[in-house]
Amino acid sequence: MAQRYVRVQDREGRVYYGLLQLSQSVQVLDAPPWLQGQPTDLQLEPDSYRLLAPCAPSKIVAVGKNYTDHAAEMGTPVPHEPLLFLKPPTSVIATDGTIHYPPQSQRVDYEGELALVIGERAFDCVPEQAQAKIWGYTIANDVTARDLQRQDVQWTRAKGFDTFCPLGPWIVRELNPGALLQTFVNDNTQPVQFARIDEMVFPPDFLVSYISQVMTLLPGDVILTGTPFGVGPLHPGDRVVVAIEGIGRLENTITIRQPGRSH
Ligand code: MG
Repeated sequence: MAQRYVRVQDREGRVYYGLLQLSQSVQVLDAPPWLQGQPTDLQLEPDSYRLLAPCAPSKIVAVGKNYTDHAAEMGTPVPHEPLLFLKPPTSVIATDGTIHYPPQSQRVDYEGELALVIGERAFDCVPEQAQAKIWGYTIANDVTARDLQRQDVQWTRAKGFDTFCPLGPWIVRELNPGALLQTFVNDNTQPVQFARIDEMVFPPDFLVSYISQVMTLLPGDVILTGTPFGVGPLHPGDRVVVAIEGIGRLENTITIRQPGRSH
């Protein structure tokens, strides 16, 4: 199994980066691994921590309509260039975290996606330089209030709610280019989304290069590479799983947001 890089919180609230062992213990690192974090003597036992999102990005840059059949289901062509938008860092939650269904929306959709984690500062890279800026890969759910996306001129509100960016459960460094992405809702064994990640129109190195020509990407920043065909609604009480071969499963439940409560 590939090495799994995690970020965890212990019972005292301390946050660590680490390596997840097969025993489920965590070997703590002294810094984020993309900043050359080295193993320490500290080991966390399996019942003494909880998984956080595997990085804490300064920004999440997302790409819309990057799979041909998804663009078609949205009734639009694939853009000639990547279509970028931002999700705020406050939208991030970990695997097993709860997606809060906001009162402003009557239609909240899942969007299973491959996420890239940036390892070093990147500005104005060509694609040949960009691959080296990608430190690893994880899974994201680009949760979207579809009715607000259609209603608003741009997507900040629809994509930006707290809890609308489940991320994790961990980062791996290598990924098979043809890895399968699947999304499942509740106990259905048939996936609602099913695609190979190399079906994306603009590949990871192109996306990193393109984005770096606009804004500086910082270590720990995250890029969401777009969702394939099959987006659909979530309802309070649902459980949604996004799985990518060679990474793992990102699993979250949905509840109605309580007035005045953040996540
Ligand atoms: Mg998306």
